[in-house]
Amino acid sequence: MKVICIGRNYTDHAKELGTETPTEPIFFLKPTTACLYPGQPVKLPDIAGEIEHELELVVMIDSYAKDVPVNMALGLVASFTVGLDLTARTLQNELKAKGLPWEKAKAWDGSAVLGEVELPMTASTDLQALSLELKKNGNTVQKDTTAHMIFTVAELIAYVSRFITLEPGDLLFTGTPAGIGPIAPGDVLEGFLNGKKMLSATVAKG
Ligand code: ZN
Repeated sequence: MKVICIGRNYTDHAKELGTETPTEPIFFLKPTTACLYPGQPVKLPDIAGEIEHELELVVMIDSYAKDVPVNMALGLVASFTVGLDLTARTLQNELKAKGLPWEKAKAWDGSAVLGEVELPMTASTDLQALSLELKKNGNTVQKDTTAHMIFTVAELIAYVSRFITLEPGDLLFTGTPAGIGPIAPGDVLEGFLNGKKMLSATVAKG
């Protein structure tokens, strides 16, 4: 099992990062040790600078696939939830400036926070018409619709599968909308899909 994350998949988020809108999907991996399962507190890593939240639609893959065509890609999705792609932003910016890989800023233990509610894919599920919302301490900080993704979930799955074999249990984080921001000890983070609470996590104190 692996965690595949997509970068810059919403135009407004690419803008807030001051980067260009990509012409092909950008992806990177997190190890399984990055997964933080429901009920566990978020522990901030020993990394200097800001640690930021990125709320994302997360889909679970339930079969092996390589070179899957776009029109078959959603058949691999068993269920979906939301997750937080926690990012050591200050460090990431330093790594980017030097042209170095991002893993140190992205792949640390507990950096992939998973929602406690999982919804099954059904014939009527439209993954491109979901409203995503993150509240921090009760205030909305990220809110957008998956209709604003640059690349659809099907396109992302097809693209990644050209390079990496997908396996049952793989998680795909599909990119964050605008509104990323820092987290601090004591913060309560709540993620919603279509108004339904899917994730809640507290950032551990000290
Ligand atoms: Zn992300």
